[in-house]
Amino acid sequence: MGDKVSIILTSYNKPDYLQKAIESVINQTHSNWELFVMDDHSNEETTAVIHKYLYDHRIHYKNSFVHPQHRLKTTRYATLINDALPYATGDYISYLTDDTVYHPNRLSRMVQTFLCHPEAQAVYSKQKVVHVNERGEEMSHFYRNANTVLDQAAFQVDHCSVMHRRLLLDRIKDKYGSYWDDDMKHWNHGDSIFWLRVNTFAPFLPINEVLDTTYKTPNSFQNAFQFLPADLIDGTFVKGSDQHVYFLDQGVRHPVGERWRSVYLDRTVIIPDPYLFQYHMGKCLNIPNYVLVKEADRPAVFYIDAGKKRRIESQHAFQFYQFKRKDILTIDKEVLESLPEGPPITRERSGVIANPPGRRLFFIERERFLFLHGVFHPISEQVVRKFFLQQKPIPASFRNIQQFPIGKPFYPVYDEIIKNLNIAIE
Ligand code: UDP
Ligand code: MG
Repeated sequence: MGDKVSIILTSYNKPDYLQKAIESVINQTHSNWELFVMDDHSNEETTAVIHKYLYDHRIHYKNSFVHPQHRLKTTRYATLINDALPYATGDYISYLTDDTVYHPNRLSRMVQTFLCHPEAQAVYSKQKVVHVNERGEEMSHFYRNANTVLDQAAFQVDHCSVMHRRLLLDRIKDKYGSYWDDDMKHWNHGDSIFWLRVNTFAPFLPINEVLDTTYKTPNSFQNAFQFLPADLIDGTFVKGSDQHVYFLDQGVRHPVGERWRSVYLDRTVIIPDPYLFQYHMGKCLNIPNYVLVKEADRPAVFYIDAGKKRRIESQHAFQFYQFKRKDILTIDKEVLESLPEGPPITRERSGVIANPPGRRLFFIERERFLFLHGVFHPISEQVVRKFFLQQKPIPASFRNIQQFPIGKPFYPVYDEIIKNLNIAIE
């Protein structure tokens, strides 16, 4: 048996990191490898990086040219890996993402381990995980250990810390009908779903040495995916990997102009691109919903709700609905006049909540609710933290909101998926 390693590198719009990833393969002490750079229709800056390395005959490149509408249909990296695997000629297979670097002895240590353990089918190593900020500076780091033989590697071992024998692939395909399961619902843990398949044939042998470093950027899927509900909340400022800020409104993402910068600056939620692409592109908004505005020389304060301006009738109502003066934006008379008038926002003496402002957070009998489009939705604390950093919940009782329906909850979808998989996570 030989010692050739096939490496499948998946890439999407991370030119700087990608360059480091490719160079980390070129710098391996073990030189018998082939690298498949599977690019998922990245920007030109990224493909230009790839082209710089194609002089090396060991490096193969394929662009998926995926259409934006199809991007959200599968777990993309799993789809790309499945496309590459039939061409792999190595004795061993190893995976790499564009935000990870292999340490120079990564391949040699793993191949050595296989040579010493002819019965082994899969090995994994210790990993350094570095969290970086938007400027690429290290904020913190930790290690994922590799000191036990794993019968269940799912949710323990990262995508980039594994090598397995190529022959195992045939057995996996025979049993499951495909190599990697690229169902969209596994986007955040497609590697773990593949490890489950590997584990039905063999355990993972540990190599207790750090052989790769992975970088978690604010845009990384895991960060972006964390605490995200299945349906995004209307009225959120979001951005995907291209850094453009959009305002979400009922299936449409509206680009927002610079003039709303002070509003969206500290409340833009980073979301994964597939979520973003589900929204049609709308027109640039004159004025987004759910902001507080007033004219320069007039005291009246309005809340923009469903495209209408709603006057906040009293100081009492302003305070009750937890609005803050610092959030009031002064806008031109003409812009305000162009908006139709909605019902005023009032505070009834009886305590009944008659016509509350939209997209406000309530605290009702120890539970959090979000009032949106006329419905009270239960919402988890984690989703609140991700979407409503600054609003204090409005205290209320079920009696006072009884004319409104209770809708579908906003809970993190990832937790639900894990629960349904029914596997223990440490
Ligand atoms: N990826 C892809 N297509 C996409 C988005 C991501 O092929 O539309 C690849 C990306 O290049 C990387 C892997 O999927 O190799 C995981 O993505 P990311 O690093 O953003 O996720 P995380 O580090 O949070 O798991
Ligand atoms: Mg990553």
